Amino acid sequence: MDVYSANGKFLAQAAYSPVSQIRARVWTFDAQAVDARFLLQRLERALEQRAALGLLEQAAVRLVYAESDGLPGLIVDRYGEVLVVQFLSAGAEFWRETLLELLSAHIPCRGIYERSDAEVRTLEGLPLRSGLVWGESPPFVEIEEHGLRFRVDLAHGHKTGFYLDQRANRALLRSLSAGREVLDCFSYSGGFTLNALAGGARSVVAVDASAEALAQLRAHVNLNGLPLERVETIEGDAFQVLRRFRDQNRRFDLILLDPPKFAPTAAQVEKAARGYKDINLLAFKLLRPGGLLLTFSCSGGVDAALFQKIVAAAALDAGVDARIVRFLSQDADHPIALHFPESAYLKGLVCRVSGPL
Ligand code: SAH
Repeated sequence: MDVYSANGKFLAQAAYSPVSQIRARVWTFDAQAVDARFLLQRLERALEQRAALGLLEQAAVRLVYAESDGLPGLIVDRYGEVLVVQFLSAGAEFWRETLLELLSAHIPCRGIYERSDAEVRTLEGLPLRSGLVWGESPPFVEIEEHGLRFRVDLAHGHKTGFYLDQRANRALLRSLSAGREVLDCFSYSGGFTLNALAGGARSVVAVDASAEALAQLRAHVNLNGLPLERVETIEGDAFQVLRRFRDQNRRFDLILLDPPKFAPTAAQVEKAARGYKDINLLAFKLLRPGGLLLTFSCSGGVDAALFQKIVAAAALDAGVDARIVRFLSQDADHPIALHFPESAYLKGLVCRVSGPL
Protein backbone atom coordinates (compact mmCIF):
# COMPACT_ATOMS: atom_id res chain seq x y z
CA MET A 1 0.00 0.00 0.00
CA ASP A 2 1.04 3.62 -0.47
CA VAL A 3 1.94 5.83 2.47
CA TYR A 4 1.13 9.56 2.32
CA SER A 5 2.07 12.46 4.58
CA ALA A 6 -0.63 14.41 6.41
CA ASN A 7 -0.74 16.91 3.56
CA GLY A 8 -1.16 14.22 0.90
CA LYS A 9 2.43 13.89 -0.35
CA PHE A 10 3.52 10.38 -1.43
CA LEU A 11 6.09 9.02 1.01
CA ALA A 12 6.62 5.32 0.40
CA GLN A 13 5.18 1.93 -0.41
CA ALA A 14 4.88 -0.31 2.60
CA ALA A 15 3.51 -3.61 3.81
CA TYR A 16 0.62 -3.14 6.21
CA SER A 17 0.59 -5.16 9.44
CA PRO A 18 -2.82 -4.52 11.03
CA VAL A 19 -2.02 -6.15 14.39
CA SER A 20 1.63 -5.15 14.76
CA GLN A 21 2.83 -2.15 16.72
CA ILE A 22 4.87 -1.40 13.59
CA ARG A 23 1.93 -0.76 11.29
CA ALA A 24 3.81 -0.27 8.04
CA ARG A 25 7.17 -1.60 6.89
CA VAL A 26 8.56 0.26 3.91
CA TRP A 27 9.45 -1.66 0.78
CA THR A 28 10.54 1.39 -1.18
CA PHE A 29 10.48 5.19 -1.06
CA ASP A 30 9.86 5.24 -4.85
CA ALA A 31 6.76 4.64 -6.93
CA GLN A 32 8.31 1.51 -8.61
CA ALA A 33 6.18 -1.63 -8.60
CA VAL A 34 6.71 -3.99 -5.67
CA ASP A 35 6.67 -7.33 -7.47
CA ALA A 36 8.85 -10.38 -8.17
CA ARG A 37 11.31 -8.31 -10.20
CA PHE A 38 11.67 -5.79 -7.40
CA LEU A 39 12.24 -8.54 -4.84
CA LEU A 40 14.84 -10.20 -7.06
CA GLN A 41 16.71 -6.91 -7.42
CA ARG A 42 16.81 -6.56 -3.64
CA LEU A 43 18.03 -10.16 -3.24
CA GLU A 44 20.74 -9.61 -5.83
CA ARG A 45 21.84 -6.41 -4.15
CA ALA A 46 22.14 -8.23 -0.81
CA LEU A 47 24.27 -10.97 -2.39
CA GLU A 48 26.46 -8.45 -4.22
CA GLN A 49 27.18 -6.60 -0.98
CA ARG A 50 28.33 -9.76 0.72
CA ALA A 51 30.36 -10.88 -2.27
CA ALA A 52 32.11 -7.50 -2.34
CA LEU A 53 33.09 -7.91 1.31
CA GLY A 54 34.40 -11.45 0.76
CA LEU A 55 31.72 -12.87 3.05
CA LEU A 56 30.39 -15.51 0.70
CA GLU A 57 33.43 -17.74 1.27
CA GLN A 58 32.11 -18.43 4.76
CA ALA A 59 30.35 -21.78 5.17
CA ALA A 60 27.72 -20.09 7.29
CA VAL A 61 26.62 -16.60 6.39
CA ARG A 62 23.59 -14.33 6.55
CA LEU A 63 22.62 -13.56 2.95
CA VAL A 64 19.63 -11.35 3.67
CA TYR A 65 19.17 -9.28 6.80
CA ALA A 66 15.63 -7.95 6.60
CA GLU A 67 15.18 -4.14 6.72
CA SER A 68 18.93 -3.62 6.34
CA ASP A 69 18.75 -5.23 2.91
CA GLY A 70 15.51 -3.54 1.92
CA LEU A 71 13.51 -6.73 2.53
CA PRO A 72 11.63 -6.10 5.80
CA GLY A 73 11.04 -9.24 7.82
CA LEU A 74 13.04 -11.59 5.58
CA ILE A 75 16.06 -13.44 6.94
CA VAL A 76 18.06 -15.82 4.75
CA ASP A 77 21.04 -17.65 6.23
CA ARG A 78 23.16 -20.14 4.32
CA TYR A 79 24.60 -23.15 6.13
CA GLY A 80 26.73 -25.10 3.67
CA GLU A 81 24.33 -26.04 0.90
CA VAL A 82 21.13 -25.34 2.80
CA LEU A 83 19.29 -22.04 3.09
CA VAL A 84 17.42 -21.33 6.31
CA VAL A 85 14.72 -18.70 5.94
CA GLN A 86 12.50 -16.73 8.28
CA PHE A 87 9.45 -14.66 7.29
CA LEU A 88 9.00 -12.39 10.29
CA SER A 89 6.54 -9.74 9.15
CA ALA A 90 3.19 -9.61 7.41
CA GLY A 91 4.83 -8.22 4.25
CA ALA A 92 7.44 -10.95 4.02
CA GLU A 93 4.73 -13.52 4.69
CA PHE A 94 2.60 -12.06 1.88
CA TRP A 95 5.44 -12.60 -0.62
CA ARG A 96 6.52 -15.96 0.85
CA GLU A 97 5.82 -18.15 -2.19
CA THR A 98 7.46 -15.71 -4.60
CA LEU A 99 10.49 -15.29 -2.36
CA LEU A 100 10.92 -19.06 -2.03
CA GLU A 101 10.76 -19.43 -5.82
CA LEU A 102 13.31 -16.66 -6.30
CA LEU A 103 15.66 -18.11 -3.70
CA SER A 104 15.54 -21.64 -5.12
CA ALA A 105 16.03 -20.34 -8.67
CA HIS A 106 18.79 -17.82 -8.03
CA ILE A 107 20.87 -19.09 -5.10
CA PRO A 108 22.60 -22.44 -5.64
CA CYS A 109 21.44 -24.72 -2.82
CA ARG A 110 20.22 -28.24 -2.09
CA GLY A 111 17.34 -27.28 0.09
CA ILE A 112 15.46 -24.51 1.87
CA TYR A 113 14.42 -24.95 5.49
CA GLU A 114 11.93 -22.56 7.03
CA ARG A 115 12.32 -21.44 10.65
CA SER A 116 9.43 -19.00 10.95
CA ASP A 117 9.02 -20.11 14.55
CA ALA A 118 10.44 -16.93 16.11
CA GLU A 119 8.28 -15.31 18.77
CA VAL A 120 8.18 -11.98 16.91
CA ARG A 121 5.77 -13.63 14.46
CA THR A 122 3.12 -13.60 17.16
CA LEU A 123 3.54 -9.81 17.51
CA GLU A 124 2.72 -9.64 13.81
CA GLY A 125 -0.32 -11.87 14.30
CA LEU A 126 1.29 -14.68 12.33
CA PRO A 127 1.31 -18.37 13.30
CA LEU A 128 4.63 -20.14 13.98
CA ARG A 129 5.81 -22.41 11.21
CA SER A 130 8.91 -24.51 10.52
CA GLY A 131 10.02 -27.35 8.25
CA LEU A 132 11.61 -28.16 4.93
CA VAL A 133 9.97 -26.08 2.18
CA TRP A 134 12.08 -26.90 -0.88
CA GLY A 135 14.58 -29.55 -2.01
CA GLU A 136 16.30 -31.65 0.62
CA SER A 137 18.22 -31.04 3.79
CA PRO A 138 20.06 -33.17 6.33
CA PRO A 139 18.98 -32.52 9.95
CA PHE A 140 22.48 -31.30 10.82
CA VAL A 141 24.87 -29.29 8.69
CA GLU A 142 28.53 -29.13 9.59
CA ILE A 143 30.03 -25.68 9.16
CA GLU A 144 33.49 -24.30 9.70
CA GLU A 145 34.17 -20.95 11.31
CA HIS A 146 37.74 -19.66 11.68
CA GLY A 147 38.91 -23.26 11.28
CA LEU A 148 36.58 -24.65 13.96
CA ARG A 149 33.85 -27.13 13.11
CA PHE A 150 30.28 -26.91 14.40
CA ARG A 151 27.28 -29.16 13.74
CA VAL A 152 24.27 -26.92 13.30
CA ASP A 153 20.85 -28.33 14.17
CA LEU A 154 18.66 -26.70 11.52
CA ALA A 155 15.34 -27.88 12.91
CA HIS A 156 15.87 -27.20 16.62
CA GLY A 157 18.84 -24.85 16.95
CA HIS A 158 18.26 -21.33 18.27
CA LYS A 159 17.32 -18.66 15.72
CA THR A 160 18.28 -20.26 12.42
CA GLY A 161 20.68 -22.67 14.13
CA PHE A 162 23.78 -20.66 15.01
CA TYR A 163 24.59 -17.16 16.26
CA LEU A 164 26.24 -15.89 13.09
CA ASP A 165 26.24 -12.30 14.35
CA GLN A 166 29.00 -13.10 16.89
CA ARG A 167 31.47 -14.52 14.35
CA ALA A 168 34.01 -11.68 14.51
CA ASN A 169 33.67 -11.38 18.30
CA ARG A 170 34.40 -15.08 18.71
CA ALA A 171 37.66 -14.56 16.79
CA LEU A 172 38.48 -11.60 19.02
CA LEU A 173 37.90 -13.71 22.11
CA ARG A 174 40.31 -16.32 20.77
CA SER A 175 43.04 -13.70 20.54
CA LEU A 176 42.48 -12.73 24.19
CA SER A 177 42.30 -16.18 25.79
CA ALA A 178 45.86 -17.50 26.09
CA GLY A 179 46.62 -18.74 29.58
CA ARG A 180 43.38 -17.37 31.02
CA GLU A 181 40.71 -18.93 33.18
CA VAL A 182 37.53 -18.20 31.23
CA LEU A 183 33.89 -18.10 32.24
CA ASP A 184 31.46 -18.34 29.30
CA CYS A 185 27.96 -17.44 30.52
CA PHE A 186 25.05 -18.22 28.17
CA SER A 187 27.38 -20.46 26.17
CA TYR A 188 24.81 -22.12 23.88
CA SER A 189 26.59 -24.73 21.72
CA GLY A 190 30.06 -23.41 22.52
CA GLY A 191 30.84 -20.75 19.93
CA PHE A 192 32.90 -18.74 22.41
CA THR A 193 34.08 -21.69 24.52
CA LEU A 194 35.69 -23.39 21.53
CA ASN A 195 37.46 -20.22 20.50
CA ALA A 196 38.75 -19.74 24.04
CA LEU A 197 40.19 -23.28 23.98
CA ALA A 198 41.63 -22.76 20.50
CA GLY A 199 43.24 -19.58 21.80
CA GLY A 200 44.98 -21.46 24.59
CA ALA A 201 42.68 -20.78 27.58
CA ARG A 202 43.83 -22.61 30.70
CA SER A 203 40.25 -23.59 31.51
CA VAL A 204 36.70 -22.70 30.52
CA VAL A 205 33.54 -22.87 32.62
CA ALA A 206 30.50 -22.84 30.32
CA VAL A 207 27.11 -22.02 31.82
CA ASP A 208 23.79 -22.44 30.03
CA ALA A 209 20.22 -23.18 31.04
CA SER A 210 19.88 -25.74 28.27
CA ALA A 211 21.26 -29.26 28.82
CA GLU A 212 20.97 -29.88 25.10
CA ALA A 213 23.11 -26.84 24.24
CA LEU A 214 25.77 -28.02 26.68
CA ALA A 215 25.72 -31.54 25.22
CA GLN A 216 26.34 -29.98 21.80
CA LEU A 217 29.11 -27.86 23.29
CA ARG A 218 30.93 -30.94 24.61
CA ALA A 219 30.41 -32.72 21.27
CA HIS A 220 31.87 -29.68 19.51
CA VAL A 221 34.94 -29.72 21.76
CA ASN A 222 35.52 -33.39 20.86
CA LEU A 223 34.78 -32.85 17.16
CA ASN A 224 37.62 -30.34 17.05
CA GLY A 225 40.07 -32.41 19.09
CA LEU A 226 40.20 -29.74 21.80
CA PRO A 227 40.88 -30.68 25.45
CA LEU A 228 37.55 -31.53 27.09
CA GLU A 229 39.31 -31.89 30.45
CA ARG A 230 39.79 -28.12 30.47
CA VAL A 231 36.04 -27.55 30.20
CA GLU A 232 33.47 -27.59 32.97
CA THR A 233 29.84 -27.34 31.87
CA ILE A 234 27.22 -26.13 34.31
CA GLU A 235 23.54 -26.44 33.50
CA GLY A 236 21.67 -23.72 35.30
CA ASP A 237 20.47 -20.17 35.56
CA ALA A 238 23.46 -17.89 34.97
CA PHE A 239 22.12 -15.36 37.51
CA GLN A 240 22.24 -18.03 40.22
CA VAL A 241 25.54 -19.57 39.11
CA LEU A 242 27.22 -16.14 39.15
CA ARG A 243 25.90 -15.56 42.70
CA ARG A 244 27.16 -18.96 43.81
CA PHE A 245 30.61 -18.23 42.38
CA ARG A 246 30.64 -14.90 44.21
CA ASP A 247 29.78 -16.63 47.50
CA GLN A 248 32.49 -19.24 46.85
CA ASN A 249 35.05 -16.51 46.06
CA ARG A 250 35.77 -18.05 42.66
CA ARG A 251 37.76 -15.83 40.32
CA PHE A 252 38.30 -15.68 36.57
CA ASP A 253 40.58 -13.83 34.15
CA LEU A 254 38.04 -13.44 31.37
CA ILE A 255 34.25 -13.45 31.57
CA LEU A 256 31.80 -13.53 28.70
CA LEU A 257 28.19 -12.46 29.08
CA ASP A 258 26.11 -13.13 25.97
CA PRO A 259 22.57 -13.42 27.30
CA PRO A 260 19.39 -13.80 25.26
CA LYS A 261 17.28 -10.70 24.55
CA PHE A 262 16.01 -9.38 27.87
CA ALA A 263 14.04 -6.63 26.09
CA PRO A 264 12.77 -7.65 22.66
CA THR A 265 10.72 -4.46 22.50
CA ALA A 266 10.84 -1.04 24.15
CA ALA A 267 8.19 -2.06 26.71
CA GLN A 268 10.53 -4.35 28.69
CA VAL A 269 13.47 -1.95 28.96
CA GLU A 270 13.35 -1.33 32.71
CA LYS A 271 13.24 -4.96 33.65
CA ALA A 272 15.96 -5.72 31.10
CA ALA A 273 18.17 -2.98 32.51
CA ARG A 274 17.94 -4.57 35.95
CA GLY A 275 18.91 -7.94 34.47
CA TYR A 276 21.95 -6.55 32.66
CA LYS A 277 23.03 -4.60 35.71
CA ASP A 278 22.78 -7.70 37.88
CA ILE A 279 24.89 -10.04 35.76
CA ASN A 280 27.47 -7.38 34.90
CA LEU A 281 27.86 -6.40 38.54
CA LEU A 282 28.41 -10.02 39.53
CA ALA A 283 30.86 -10.54 36.67
CA PHE A 284 32.92 -7.51 37.69
CA LYS A 285 33.16 -8.95 41.19
CA LEU A 286 34.43 -12.29 39.87
CA LEU A 287 37.25 -10.82 37.79
CA ARG A 288 40.84 -10.77 38.96
CA PRO A 289 42.73 -7.49 38.58
CA GLY A 290 43.73 -7.25 34.91
CA GLY A 291 40.71 -9.37 33.97
CA LEU A 292 38.56 -8.80 30.93
CA LEU A 293 34.80 -8.66 30.61
CA LEU A 294 33.22 -9.20 27.19
CA THR A 295 29.63 -8.19 27.72
CA PHE A 296 26.81 -8.10 25.19
CA SER A 297 23.22 -7.05 24.78
CA CYS A 298 21.12 -8.09 21.80
CA SER A 299 17.99 -6.35 23.09
CA GLY A 300 16.41 -4.10 20.50
CA GLY A 301 14.94 -2.03 23.32
CA VAL A 302 18.33 -1.22 24.90
CA ASP A 303 20.53 1.04 22.78
CA ALA A 304 24.32 1.33 22.93
CA ALA A 305 24.31 4.43 25.14
CA LEU A 306 21.97 2.88 27.69
CA PHE A 307 23.91 -0.38 27.70
CA GLN A 308 27.14 1.48 28.42
CA LYS A 309 25.45 3.34 31.29
CA ILE A 310 24.22 0.08 32.77
CA VAL A 311 27.67 -1.51 32.59
CA ALA A 312 29.22 1.63 34.12
CA ALA A 313 26.74 1.52 36.99
CA ALA A 314 27.50 -2.17 37.49
CA ALA A 315 31.26 -1.47 37.75
CA LEU A 316 30.62 1.36 40.19
CA ASP A 317 28.43 -0.80 42.42
CA ALA A 318 30.93 -3.67 42.22
CA GLY A 319 33.59 -1.24 43.42
CA VAL A 320 36.00 -1.89 40.55
CA ASP A 321 38.03 0.44 38.38
CA ALA A 322 37.36 -0.61 34.80
CA ARG A 323 37.69 0.93 31.36
CA ILE A 324 36.25 0.14 27.97
CA VAL A 325 38.97 -1.04 25.62
CA ARG A 326 36.76 -1.95 22.66
CA PHE A 327 33.24 -1.44 21.30
CA LEU A 328 31.77 -4.46 19.53
CA SER A 329 28.86 -4.98 17.19
CA GLN A 330 27.31 -7.57 14.89
CA ASP A 331 29.37 -9.01 12.03
CA ALA A 332 29.34 -7.52 8.51
CA ASP A 333 26.72 -9.92 7.12
CA HIS A 334 24.26 -8.22 9.53
CA PRO A 335 24.70 -4.69 8.15
CA ILE A 336 23.09 -1.65 9.74
CA ALA A 337 21.00 0.45 7.39
CA LEU A 338 21.68 4.11 8.12
CA HIS A 339 17.98 4.88 7.73
CA PHE A 340 17.12 2.04 10.13
CA PRO A 341 19.36 2.44 13.19
CA GLU A 342 17.25 -0.14 15.07
CA SER A 343 19.08 -2.79 13.04
CA ALA A 344 22.13 -2.14 15.26
CA TYR A 345 20.82 -4.60 17.84
CA LEU A 346 24.03 -6.25 19.06
CA LYS A 347 26.06 -4.10 21.40
CA GLY A 348 29.23 -5.33 23.06
CA LEU A 349 31.89 -3.87 25.31
CA VAL A 350 35.29 -5.21 26.24
CA CYS A 351 36.17 -3.87 29.67
CA ARG A 352 39.43 -4.28 31.49
CA VAL A 353 39.41 -4.22 35.26
CA SER A 354 42.52 -2.76 36.81
CA GLY A 355 41.65 -3.35 40.43
CA PRO A 356 39.42 -2.06 43.21
CA LEU A 357 38.18 1.52 42.88
N1 SAH B 1 27.22 -17.09 22.98
C1 SAH B 1 26.44 -18.01 22.18
C2 SAH B 1 25.01 -17.56 22.02
C3 SAH B 1 24.24 -17.34 23.31
S1 SAH B 1 22.52 -17.36 23.10
C4 SAH B 1 27.14 -18.20 20.82
O1 SAH B 1 28.01 -17.39 20.42
O2 SAH B 1 26.82 -19.17 20.14
C5 SAH B 1 21.87 -17.32 24.69
C6 SAH B 1 21.93 -18.64 25.47
O3 SAH B 1 21.48 -18.34 26.79
C7 SAH B 1 21.05 -19.76 24.99
O4 SAH B 1 21.83 -20.90 24.75
C8 SAH B 1 20.06 -20.05 26.15
O5 SAH B 1 19.86 -21.45 26.35
C9 SAH B 1 20.80 -19.48 27.32
N2 SAH B 1 19.99 -18.97 28.44
C10 SAH B 1 18.82 -18.31 28.42
N3 SAH B 1 18.48 -17.91 29.67
C11 SAH B 1 19.45 -18.35 30.49
C12 SAH B 1 19.68 -18.25 31.91
N4 SAH B 1 18.84 -17.60 32.71
N5 SAH B 1 20.80 -18.82 32.41
C13 SAH B 1 21.68 -19.45 31.61
N6 SAH B 1 21.51 -19.58 30.28
C14 SAH B 1 20.41 -19.04 29.72
